[in-house]
Amino acid sequence: GRKFFVGGNWKCNGTTEEVKKIVEMLNAGKTPSTDVVEVVVSPPYVFLPLVKSSLRSDFQVAAQNCWVKNGGAFTGEVSAEMLVDLGIPWVIIGHSERRLLLNESNEFVGDKVAYALSKGLKVIACVGETLEQREAGSTIEVVAAQTKAIADRVKDWTNVVIAYEPVWAIGTGKVATPDQAQEVHSELRKWLQNNVSAEVAANTRILYGGSVNGANCKELAAKPDIDGFLVGGASLKPEFIDIINSAT
Ligand code: 13P
Repeated sequence: GRKFFVGGNWKCNGTTEEVKKIVEMLNAGKTPSTDVVEVVVSPPYVFLPLVKSSLRSDFQVAAQNCWVKNGGAFTGEVSAEMLVDLGIPWVIIGHSERRLLLNESNEFVGDKVAYALSKGLKVIACVGETLEQREAGSTIEVVAAQTKAIADRVKDWTNVVIAYEPVWAIGTGKVATPDQAQEVHSELRKWLQNNVSAEVAANTRILYGGSVNGANCKELAAKPDIDGFLVGGASLKPEFIDIINSAT
């Protein structure tokens, strides 16, 4: 079975004081055991050591990005090796905000996923279509091309989680309906079955992301191909605990 997974992507938010408060809130939350749900929160780089050292031990930490290869003369970048050195187990790669605002291509994202995995990091790889692409009827094609760029470079999918995040649902309050999300998740799983392997299709968790909150998570979580969530705005609030609890 695919263990339920709830990720909290804090994006570029928080002061030291706010981060301490969020960690306190998380540490006090009543949630199912790690047999039932895997919880990973992703603060900005600068807060990784603080969060890692103060967060309860059944929750894990992720970076929001990393560089495509080893370090060196790459001003402003953080390498996978540095994350490993800090003891950070996870990294988010290919978030739509980076694909769109920083022009990260499918190939670049695929290269980053492969490099991070090769260094021992676990990867939350994000895919998803824009509103324009959905309205043009190309959702599956777009998501398949994004996934293919990863599949072309990655053989072992054990440490990969896919996050399907339709761009039109991110930060808009316009959550995909459970049926809309289920449809894409199921197509994506079929794509993995046909292009990678039946085993990878059966075992790889596909998260939904985009305006998930405490009120809509239950119905989404009930869908057979939705294996968890990647949560933005609501991951900074007490309702994140409710979203974690949608695992049961
Ligand atoms: P929101 O939950 O704020 O819509 O953000 C989703 C997201 O981008 C998570 O990575």
